[in-house]
Amino acid sequence: MAKSDHEIPMGERNWDILLDEGEKPDRDSWDVYFMKIAKQIATRGTCHRKHVGCVIVRDRTILATGYNGSIRGMPHCDEVGHMMEGGHCTRTVHAEANAVAQAARNGVSLKGGEIYVTASPCWQCFKLMANSGIEKIVYGEFYRDDRIFEAANHLGLELVHISKDGVNRVYTPHR
Ligand SMILES: [Zn+2]
Ligand SMILES: [Zn+2]
Repeated sequence: MAKSDHEIPMGERNWDILLDEGEKPDRDSWDVYFMKIAKQIATRGTCHRKHVGCVIVRDRTILATGYNGSIRGMPHCDEVGHMMEGGHCTRTVHAEANAVAQAARNGVSLKGGEIYVTASPCWQCFKLMANSGIEKIVYGEFYRDDRIFEAANHLGLELVHISKDGVNRVYTPHR
């Protein structure tokens, strides 16, 4: 640690500033930071057919979180088995829908928010997010519904794919 030449006067006192020497540790970008949190949240999922997690933020502040899980108070897939319908398990509320529900429970507006979700939203969740006022969707892996690209483009909703190394690929421009 080297002593800095800079001193910040504060009343009668002088503060010594120490500058770190050597390499600074890598610092996550905001995109990587929130996606890491979404991945951690996904581990709480209660249907092991697919674990999805999300975090809704505005001004870099977390507004709501969600993972795919049963209705509150109802048994989990992992305990009683899946509720299959048309090849999909319908027992759980999707992560994005759960985050919107959490915000509603707490009276939090999502208008102008951004969502980080580990998998691209299904059509139902996409519609929910669009009408919640969410303006940017950042997703990890592509899940299953192509309609979101066309709709996002039409709405001027930013849709961003973030790869594992944190390099973004923007599909639709923000208007
Ligand atoms: Zn299930
Ligand atoms: Zn969904």
